[in-house]
Amino acid sequence: MPELGFNEGIWRFGAFAVVLLVMIALEAMWPRRERRHTRLRRWSTNLGILFSDYVAVALVVLLVPVTAVITALFAQQYQIGLFYWLDWPNWLEWLITFLVLDFVIWGQHVITHKIPILWRIHRVHHTDQDLDATSAVRFHPLEIILSIFIKSAAVILLGANAVVVVIFEAVVNGSAIFNHANFKIPKKLDHILRWIIVTPDMHRIHHSIERHEHDTNYGFALSIWDRLFRVYSVEPELGHDKMVIGQKDAQEEGPETFLWSILLPFFKLKMKSKGDTDASNPSHKNSQETT
Ligand SMILES: [Zn+2]
Repeated sequence: MPELGFNEGIWRFGAFAVVLLVMIALEAMWPRRERRHTRLRRWSTNLGILFSDYVAVALVVLLVPVTAVITALFAQQYQIGLFYWLDWPNWLEWLITFLVLDFVIWGQHVITHKIPILWRIHRVHHTDQDLDATSAVRFHPLEIILSIFIKSAAVILLGANAVVVVIFEAVVNGSAIFNHANFKIPKKLDHILRWIIVTPDMHRIHHSIERHEHDTNYGFALSIWDRLFRVYSVEPELGHDKMVIGQKDAQEEGPETFLWSILLPFFKLKMKSKGDTDASNPSHKNSQETT
């Protein structure tokens, strides 16, 4: 099997740590919303979930040696995939790789909102009652594993370059930390950035307690897919300061604790609000187009 020539894990963790620390500093200097919970309480849970993701991925790789990068190296060894057959210019293949992978994870995100069993897993991310940089790592291990297999399928179909895949993963992780961060960006700058990337004000709407809002703005890195598929919201109805974040049936104690969060896909929440945030019925009819 070909090798990357550098330690992917160290580089990706380094990029992750730098972006996380920068966003935490910006949140401290220019906070956007008041926090409901102390940092310590939520951070220990969100970072605990991240640790459980690392453990789960390590176990899966031990059993089935598949990650997006391993798949790219496998495709390189056996010259499998579209780009190995077409032999287009490198820059074009890299651009397409980035766009396709970003679209694939956007599509995966949409599907996790529509299919009940996947929504059970994905809503762990949505039960966070505050949003900040650490919310970006609050993904249940099962969702991370699902994502690995979906990305790997796209990588082998494309015959994507392994280094581009590493860069894509780092950029998407960095983007997620950025767009979950709780810091103020001047409105004009926010609206310019939004034409290309997902900003914190854009993504916050996706964490609204209201279903017709949290079924919009699915993007991780690029904002084009939400605009293209008409699931783009500009502003939350109540404004960014007053909008409520989380799930209607998870506004009490729970989401800020590790065990509750990790076990959430396996139990039903007692309180239900009519027609909304019910794990058994995630389909919706009112996608929003407010551009
Ligand atoms: Zn979501």
